Amino acid sequence: MKLAVRFSFLFMLVSVLSTSILGYFSFQNSKSIIEKEIVSHLTSINILKESELKSWISDKKNSIELLAASPYFKDEFAEMIVQHDPENPVHLLMHKALKEGYFFPFIERENFTELFIIRQDDGIVLISTDNKQEGKYKADMLYFIHGKTETFVQNVYYSVSLQQPAMTISAPLKGRNDNLIAVLAGNVDLADLSEIIGRMSGLHETEDTYLVNKFNFFITDPKFGKGYALNKAVFTDGVEAALKHQDGFALYDDYRGEPVIGVFHWIPEVELAIITEINQVEVYAPVYKLRNNFIFLAIGVALSSILAGLLVSINITKPINRLVEGVRELGKGNLNYRLDIRKRDEVGILAAEFSAAEEKLRKTIVSRDELIKEVSRREIIEKELIRSNADLERFVYVASHDLQEPLRMISSYLLLLEKRYRDKLDGDAHDFISFAVEGVRRMHQLINDLLTYSRVEKHAEAFKNVDMESVLEHAIANSRAAITESKAEITHDVLPKVVSSETHLIQVMQNLIANAIKFSGKNIPAIHISAKHDKSRNEWIFSVKDNGIGIDPQYFDRIFTMFQRLHGYEYPGTGMGLAIVKRIIEYHGGRVWVESEPDRGSTFYFTIPELSKTETVKI
Ligand code: ADP
Repeated sequence: MKLAVRFSFLFMLVSVLSTSILGYFSFQNSKSIIEKEIVSHLTSINILKESELKSWISDKKNSIELLAASPYFKDEFAEMIVQHDPENPVHLLMHKALKEGYFFPFIERENFTELFIIRQDDGIVLISTDNKQEGKYKADMLYFIHGKTETFVQNVYYSVSLQQPAMTISAPLKGRNDNLIAVLAGNVDLADLSEIIGRMSGLHETEDTYLVNKFNFFITDPKFGKGYALNKAVFTDGVEAALKHQDGFALYDDYRGEPVIGVFHWIPEVELAIITEINQVEVYAPVYKLRNNFIFLAIGVALSSILAGLLVSINITKPINRLVEGVRELGKGNLNYRLDIRKRDEVGILAAEFSAAEEKLRKTIVSRDELIKEVSRREIIEKELIRSNADLERFVYVASHDLQEPLRMISSYLLLLEKRYRDKLDGDAHDFISFAVEGVRRMHQLINDLLTYSRVEKHAEAFKNVDMESVLEHAIANSRAAITESKAEITHDVLPKVVSSETHLIQVMQNLIANAIKFSGKNIPAIHISAKHDKSRNEWIFSVKDNGIGIDPQYFDRIFTMFQRLHGYEYPGTGMGLAIVKRIIEYHGGRVWVESEPDRGSTFYFTIPELSKTETVKI
């Protein structure tokens, strides 16, 4: 997964998770606070309505009591009852007058649906505002039985004669002697109840209070059910609980099937359940609003996280990607790639370090390239040098070789001249001839030396393990004449074996011994040859020490070059001996030098590298 996506995801996870947890707890908290607040509000509505209901009933009770206590009933009515004769026109008149004078104005004023009087001895309805009820038998009705002794309220019941629920309030009618003559009873208008109970508290739109009787019938109209009162039954959780005489609240579906919070209470005095409900949607609206706000917040936070992820991508991953690209380019060998990261953070530092490393590498590679170029340039020069060296050698060889022929001719003719004209030539001519012969001899020597010099490489044998003791023996043998003549004494240390060309080393040794004898001066030559191993350079250092005339240090270098001589003809020589020594030693990979002081002898040194067995030997 890319870094930017990972960052965005992480930010989103952390922020959305924390918002959600916070949102969840705030939601639950507010929900329970609102629930508590609503339940207490609904409970107080129930208490209020209950008290309104009770005072309404007691009002109705009072008006019946007052009417029953009016003097009219004590006097005239009592008489009328005693002389009750339905056929008597006076009685009929009184009957009519009673209804019109008292009953109708009463039910009108007090809002009763019916007012009637039941005879105490047989329970027959004597007078009623409802003509149909007159003459009916009511002796078994509770309101009659109790109404004989006191004011009585018969709670809502189903009236068979009225074919509907009713609530009847009754009171005894007494004569002058306080004797019971009849029972006065009135049916209250239950529509009034609907009006009282349904009156809204005005705080909530869906607030709904209604009364239910023990047979599950609506006694008052609920807010959303006009005409339900006394017609419909209801079986919700709230109603069921209240009918079991429980007080409390619950969340359930109401009579319409709407989810509500309902507070229920059983009023034992009137045997009715009072229920106040409110739609859950309305109650929880603020909480849902809060929840929605949190959802929006979470979405916002999620979007911001993505934005943050992008920002991180710009600020961190982009430079990192550029760095990755740079490393990739470097891997491909592109050293000219330039990183464009100008940041001061860790990524910037990393980029700067990278650039510096790249620069160093570039420089190294450039110098390496130059080195390679230089090496190949030198290789070309070396080849050229070898070639011209070979050319030169060839030239020297050819020239020397070709010169020998005319030289031999000159020498032959000189000998002939001397032989044939010996007697005709004077003393000077003989001298001149001998000078010329000497010149030829020297020239011959020179040519030989030149040939030796030029053939050092050409005439080299395959390198092998050569015993320096035997080399020295050969050299001494070759110089036997000079040694004997000079009575030279030659001593030496134990000499090692070295990988080399034997003939060449005999030549070196021979030249050095010859010089030591030649330049011995007045002393009898004493020559000592020794060898020392130099571990640090892994080479053998040989030395040839004499007791001769010595050399001025200023000529130390010069004597090793061709034809360089420090003396006149008192010392014979071509000036090629040391040049040949130098050439041979260098051909073996060694060095030559001299240490000397005039009149104190000289020591010539040369080195031969010690080759390991694995090293190949140049031929
Ligand atoms: P040559 O011996 O033919 O003159 P070399 O090349 O052998 O030429 O020597 C060069 C010169 O170095 C000699 O002429 C001599 O002056 C000097 N030289 C060489 N060897 C010795 C020596 N052992 N002692 C003193 N001088 C020497």
